[in-house]
Amino acid sequence: MTARSIRDIVQALEVTEGAGVTVHRTIGTPRLRHLDPFLMLDHFSSDDPDSYIAGFPDHPHRGFCTFTYMLDGHMEHRDSMGNTGDLQAGGGQWMKAASGVIHSEMPKQTAGLMRGFQLWINLPAREKMSAPTYQEFQADRFPIVDKDGARIKVIIGSCNATAAPINDPDTQVQYLDVTLAAAGHFSHALPATLQGFIYVFEGQAAVDSHALPRHTFAVLGDGDQLRVDAGPQGARFILVAGKPLGEPIVQYGPFVMNTQEEIRQAFTDYHNGTLVQRKADVNP
Ligand code: MN
Repeated sequence: MTARSIRDIVQALEVTEGAGVTVHRTIGTPRLRHLDPFLMLDHFSSDDPDSYIAGFPDHPHRGFCTFTYMLDGHMEHRDSMGNTGDLQAGGGQWMKAASGVIHSEMPKQTAGLMRGFQLWINLPAREKMSAPTYQEFQADRFPIVDKDGARIKVIIGSCNATAAPINDPDTQVQYLDVTLAAAGHFSHALPATLQGFIYVFEGQAAVDSHALPRHTFAVLGDGDQLRVDAGPQGARFILVAGKPLGEPIVQYGPFVMNTQEEIRQAFTDYHNGTLVQRKADVNP
């Protein structure tokens, strides 16, 4: 067993997205363009409804998956496959945009708060033009594992023998929400084939004596065993890992393909109204 240390710490960049929503972006910035297979990580955290009330009106995606995890508040959404929903606090929405989806995402506060994450996960070339699929689970569908004082919510993949409701066959994503009591710790076998990161969003943690204060994004180094220690106020973080694809990445905004030609095709399809190949009403 080799302990994973910290390979890099990336400060979040404040980015304005959608119709004027401020997000804190780490993956997908000039500092960290990609972390294969991950293309983007946005953390949204606000107690000011004016800062996100306009949300993310209809916009396209092609060539990858999005995963939205709400911590506080909720997210109303609808898409071109005819799905509509209202993702509540603690819920997660996995959308395989693949060949093309147009959707809207409208974050709403609850008791003044709206917090969550959106992660973009790349698809292998063979899946980029496949049919879109979509799944959504509210908070009570995610199993909780209690282990040595760590409370682990299993969101994608598995933790020990406990399986999440979401399974990712393409990049074997693991996504855990871990809460540690004061001075508690989390030990986790993380296969060396997976690239991973943690994002501390409450309290303070440490990995291999690297201090990770609140709102720190840290890329994990090589190894197959992770240990995270909480500070005196405890800690809460997401651990996310996935299998790198090792394929060329050509990205233009919401389209992520393997070649420039495929990006040109995505724009052509979008302008021609053929991006969504499995047609359903965008706003039924
Ligand atoms: Mn979107």
